[in-house]
Amino acid sequence: MSSVDDRRDVREGYRNGGATRSLNDSLEGEIQAFLIDEDQLYTYDDLTKVNPVTPATVLKCLQVRYSMKVFYTHAGCTLVALNPFQPIPDLYSLDVMKEYHYAHQPQEFKPHIFIVAEEAYRNVRGQLEPVNQSLVVSGESGAGKTWTSRCLMKYYATVASVSVVKSQDTVERIERRVLDSNPVMEAFGNACTLRNNNSSRFGKYIQLQLDRCQLLVGASVQTYLLEKTRVACQTANERNFHIFYQMMKGATDEQRKEWKMSHDQSFVWLPNSEKTIEEDCFHETVEAMVHLGINAERQGEIFRILAGILQLGNVSFSSSADESQPCHLDRAAELLCVPAEELQTCLRVRTLKAGKQSVLKPCSQAECSVRRDCLAKVIYAQLFEWLVTFINNSICADKSTWCNFIGVLDVYGFECFQTNNLEQLCINYANEKLQQHFVAHYLRAQQEEYVSEGLQWSFVKYQDNQSCLDLLEGSPISVFSLLNEESRLNRASDAKTFRVRLEKELCDNANISWDKFSKVPHFTVAHYAGKVGYQIEGMAEKNKDPVPPELISLLQKSNNQLLHQIFKDNETESQIKKGPGKTTVVSKFKNSLETLMKILHFTTPHYTRCIKPNPECKPLTFKKEEVIIQLEACGIVETIHISALLLKSLAEAELDDAKDLVEEDTPALTPVIRERGSVQLSTIPEPVTVQGWPMGLALASAPSMTVSLTATGFQKMMSVIASLNLPSRRGEYQVKTNQYTEELASIRAQPKGSVKLHCQRSPLLYADRQPDLKSDVTGFNEILLEKTL
Ligand code: ADP
Repeated sequence: MSSVDDRRDVREGYRNGGATRSLNDSLEGEIQAFLIDEDQLYTYDDLTKVNPVTPATVLKCLQVRYSMKVFYTHAGCTLVALNPFQPIPDLYSLDVMKEYHYAHQPQEFKPHIFIVAEEAYRNVRGQLEPVNQSLVVSGESGAGKTWTSRCLMKYYATVASVSVVKSQDTVERIERRVLDSNPVMEAFGNACTLRNNNSSRFGKYIQLQLDRCQLLVGASVQTYLLEKTRVACQTANERNFHIFYQMMKGATDEQRKEWKMSHDQSFVWLPNSEKTIEEDCFHETVEAMVHLGINAERQGEIFRILAGILQLGNVSFSSSADESQPCHLDRAAELLCVPAEELQTCLRVRTLKAGKQSVLKPCSQAECSVRRDCLAKVIYAQLFEWLVTFINNSICADKSTWCNFIGVLDVYGFECFQTNNLEQLCINYANEKLQQHFVAHYLRAQQEEYVSEGLQWSFVKYQDNQSCLDLLEGSPISVFSLLNEESRLNRASDAKTFRVRLEKELCDNANISWDKFSKVPHFTVAHYAGKVGYQIEGMAEKNKDPVPPELISLLQKSNNQLLHQIFKDNETESQIKKGPGKTTVVSKFKNSLETLMKILHFTTPHYTRCIKPNPECKPLTFKKEEVIIQLEACGIVETIHISALLLKSLAEAELDDAKDLVEEDTPALTPVIRERGSVQLSTIPEPVTVQGWPMGLALASAPSMTVSLTATGFQKMMSVIASLNLPSRRGEYQVKTNQYTEELASIRAQPKGSVKLHCQRSPLLYADRQPDLKSDVTGFNEILLEKTL
């Protein structure tokens, strides 16, 4: 074993230079030596075990594993999931689920998304604070987030369903509903994009609600920022939301007639409809809607609204100011159940308020199209929201019936296109927030913990993105505050003037820059994942998201019950009264994100990073350049690096130092430790062979032991037992609480369930012996273990 100092030198060298620095000869030599053993590379289940940790070694391991069809790899506390882009038989079967669920130590199985799922589940069972769990699934479009979230939901619907309390019927119904919410939300919220045939165009946090016995009793969904512009505008080679194509392909002749969709009619808003993708499955969506309780009548209303939107897309306006010129919106009007003339007037004439007077002003051709698109977008967005609310009502359990939850967060990854607008700004802002949470949670927290414990540790320079967040959301001056100000002005925004303002106000922040030679007004933000240039033109308008009040009034008069109900809703009403621009897109998004961040702060997070191994979505094709960019963009390389150091080197350093501690007195319990609860493994009356065993295993296998807890209450006791992974066989060990004595310390349990020993008096002093009853060694006494998370 190399000395701690040697290891530190290597680390230091790496850290000083950063990932791109040319590595020194000895490190280069180590890398070569590591890579030469290609046959062995696939065996690295955890990237933190790769030695030395460099982008080259990490990549090579992943590549070799991928070629061997091994798609999951741990990276310390994060799971890296490589997208196979082809079905892998039996990887997600019921049997595999059961294997992981019933395993004594699932973390010792091959890395799998089910380990993450099971770990979170056991944490809830163990009632370790924070008991509620969040599974954050991130990655770029097409990386596998939706797939992963589905897997997680299926896992819980399966393992958290064996009910002894309730009738099987009740349980199955709720699980079925939770699973059925997926195809419906995907039909309405996903679309085929250049990067993914089934790309989620919204973010979602699904809260799976568990009762006292950890059975799935309900769920609720929170959605974020549906990309509603897609309804009326699809980028070349992309498509509208799946549901429209599903209707086109799956409708019966009778339905086609009802929806005024003849076979020979083509729709402007349905580009690339000839493309067949697996998500074009109308009957599955309808079946799922039925299971969720959306009856035939409601479905009829929904599909008529959607058909009405499609017909709106075919409405074009002439340049003539002649209002009497028809623009063929009869079909749209009929399907939306509003009078055709009124629809026409709404789209072509603006009502201007001047004091108490109303002035009518004809719209230009371009303005008419904007109003038409706006109508389609507001209808679709509100319909989507209604659907989410309906689904929530259908799957949500009464608050009195559940006590804990596991949340699955499926968020859009960092985006950088040729042209980026408000949507990308919001999405990238969300990713900044999540990255900060990730950094804070795993990196900063760990490092600070070590420092507070007085352990020698030189800080790894991780990328803290606070200054970027200050730039975007800070107070009083930030991109968002200035944008909101601009949007609230009672005039059209001028991109050039706004750019000057941004530059003047934000020039002190190093995360924003301007390309002086660019012809279009823009600003560039240095995100943690890379620089993105945002186009200013149209941004303030998008932020206002104005809906002409005439359109809302028209929809309120609709004879389509659903449309009528959606728009009579109070919020829409109050928004109109307040006037456009009062609640901006950015402020709404920021608020919902803040709520989400609060949830994340109060839950135990688990991170899964989905990686897209090639941009063409080809099976089993691994492009190193693509992968490394994603690993770096999500901070994985840094995480691996820090985790490798902290969990490895420091543990060894502590153990190396353990001899010095043995003579010292047991330290008095600090109030913090007392509060957290602690455990003393005081005796192991029967001999246990410890040499060479992982400690957790040794403890778990001890045939009999006394566990003394300074913690109070049954739950804490259970959590200690759960975290130690003690076999829960009756009578084989005795549990005593000793909350009034102060002999001991605390528990450090890895989230994986194995025990990480952090010894005040090292048990490893005895690790090469076989304790027996005659010796004065009583076992693992005075072990200081502490919960790491
Ligand atoms: P994202 O939600 O990140 O945009 P998806 O989850 O939709 O990406 O994945 C894109 C495509 O990749 C899916 O349609 C699916 O065909 C494939 N895919 C993703 N993960 C897996 C997996 N674990 N096994 C097989 N195919 C997968």
